[in-house]
Amino acid sequence: MKLYYDLHIHSALSPCGDEDMTPNNIVNMACLLGLDLIAVTDHNTAENVRAVCNAAEGKIKVVPGIEVTTAEEVHTLCYFPSVEAAEDMSGFLKKNMQGIKNRPEIFGRQLLMNSNDEIVGEEENLLISAVNLDIYEVCGATKERDGLFVPAHIDKSSYSVLANLGFLPPDLEADALEITAQNMEKYKEHYNQFTIFTSSDAHYLGDISEKSAYLDDKSKISQKIVEFLCKF
Ligand SMILES: [Zn+2]
Ligand SMILES: [Zn+2]
Repeated sequence: MKLYYDLHIHSALSPCGDEDMTPNNIVNMACLLGLDLIAVTDHNTAENVRAVCNAAEGKIKVVPGIEVTTAEEVHTLCYFPSVEAAEDMSGFLKKNMQGIKNRPEIFGRQLLMNSNDEIVGEEENLLISAVNLDIYEVCGATKERDGLFVPAHIDKSSYSVLANLGFLPPDLEADALEITAQNMEKYKEHYNQFTIFTSSDAHYLGDISEKSAYLDDKSKISQKIVEFLCKF
């Protein structure tokens, strides 16, 4: 059986996320596209994850996630086994932010929503700035909460482990790597010891993945990841 996924989607809480990226719009678009499994991965926060999970109840599986910007400005995807674990990480990140406030007129609003798509608040801290935690600390904090740690879009020329550090540190305990679809062929052989994800990094509804990337019994996915994803 194939499980079609998109494990990198931003909601309207990310300043760069379109305001139409509401919990129900994300869920309904993913269902229309025929996906089985999605993850909400806002920058440095999980505060809209619960609303998306509630909106998705009985419709589609949702993995609670966060795209953390490490102190080195490397984007890393952190996936958690429960909403509570993701929210706990979110609280930890909040304590380790630089204290830069959002300027909505420049960066966009950061909308907190409930599962009826109602705006219940706005996040004040600028979520796209780096947290005061290095990549090892973010990885460690994710694992402490039984999460999966996945360096994001490693092939991109900015905000990626390869662009910012120059290499993938061999002692970094990455559970998988994310590579964008356009560079998959170029990179996948080099990193073939890893599980590789490719997701949309959608900031607009129209960017959410078509039914293309999937997990199945035959794909090269570690048992740990299969077990993690099958729980949802
Ligand atoms: Zn990113
Ligand atoms: Zn992203």
